[in-house]
Amino acid sequence: MLVLKFGGTSVGSVKNMTNVKNIVSEGGRKVVVLSAMSGTTNALVEISNTIKDGKAAEALSQVEALYQNYVQVVNDLFSKDSFKEESLAYIKAVFEELRTLTSQKHSTLLYNKIVSKGELLSTFMFSRFLQQDGLKASLISAFDFMRTDRLNEPDSFYIKQNLNRVLEAHADTDIFITQGFICLDADGNVSNLERGGSDYTASIVGAALEASEVQIWTDIDGFHNNDPRFVQDTDAISHLSFDEAAELAYFGAKILHPQTVMPVRDLEIPVRIKNTMEPKAHGTLIDSSAEGEGIKAVAAIDGITAIKIKSARMLQASGFLKKVFEIFEKYHTSIDMITTSEIAVSLTIDDATYLKDIVSELEEFSKVDVDTHRTIVCLVGNNIVHHPDTHKLFQILQDINIRMISYGGSNNNISLLINTSDKTETLQKLHRYVFETALA
Ligand code: ASP
Ligand code: MG
Repeated sequence: MLVLKFGGTSVGSVKNMTNVKNIVSEGGRKVVVLSAMSGTTNALVEISNTIKDGKAAEALSQVEALYQNYVQVVNDLFSKDSFKEESLAYIKAVFEELRTLTSQKHSTLLYNKIVSKGELLSTFMFSRFLQQDGLKASLISAFDFMRTDRLNEPDSFYIKQNLNRVLEAHADTDIFITQGFICLDADGNVSNLERGGSDYTASIVGAALEASEVQIWTDIDGFHNNDPRFVQDTDAISHLSFDEAAELAYFGAKILHPQTVMPVRDLEIPVRIKNTMEPKAHGTLIDSSAEGEGIKAVAAIDGITAIKIKSARMLQASGFLKKVFEIFEKYHTSIDMITTSEIAVSLTIDDATYLKDIVSELEEFSKVDVDTHRTIVCLVGNNIVHHPDTHKLFQILQDINIRMISYGGSNNNISLLINTSDKTETLQKLHRYVFETALA
């Protein structure tokens, strides 16, 4: 069994959906996980925000505009009347419900219900699109098997049992179509795996079915060795280990949801990133083997807050770090980078929601400095910390103000904290020296 996930651009137009149809109609039995059409989830989030702002009438007209887009898509997608009519009736019902939701009071559940519609629409239309061509395709509802537990983690036991049960009920289906991103929570309410979560759905499904491979089809030919938005002439990386991919997915250019490798890593199910627009291109293969040594990729993540905690009196005493960490834990804020000296601890967070509370609790026993608008530049590669060329990095970056370095946390990663205003220069310098000249 194969699991193939297609992102928003891949199902974002009739032309691209035709490409996807050609890809999935080849080979054996498979589960196809789809995102919403590109732009739809953003539009739904916007509608939810408008409701939150108390502007129900405006939300209603946003729903109307989106509805018109879908009527157009259905008209373009289907040539046979029966399929067109069935799909029009489906989107009509979905938008009718959305209209009703605009008059309700904002809540997380309301948001979850609204944003779930994108994947419901794309999968319905795509399943009928395949059936119109006589393909043995069945639409299966993620709500029948995707569920999270009390800790908000995928309930793998429940998912495995229920997904297998659902598939067994369709003995003569070749292509199962299901929604990425959406799920039920432990109480059975509509929920989701957070933005970008369709990749995660695919690997959860892959693990539940012990698939031979999970393929993530997107609009780029895999992970690149640097961020193509800021650096020219980046190259696709043909192979990464699970560890390298996990580091890059967190710091990477949003190619893969950071949790994606987790469900499949222990089962050693390979993940392949493929380009829908260029299906023959190799893409990036991610599996348990590690190849080559040294720097394979550079990536950056913005919106980082650095916190320096200073306390001459406390640091010597045991239990200081425990006290610090407990405060972050209390506010469900995870720490990304950390360095310590004799009298201070510096750490970074990417979610500053509870920054004020955290700082005021830290100030009860230390002096705290906060720097916002920082960027983590992350260098990833097998055994990077032992590579003889790695020390040249400091020479290359001598003009950049490096605020923190994390070296040796894993053998595959070196992270540097810089000012966001230095990001483009840092990425370009690293690219020039690492991939084009000195260290190549
Ligand atoms: N449609 C959702 C989003 O835009 C989930 C996904 O595409 O992965 O975040
Ligand atoms: Mg995505």
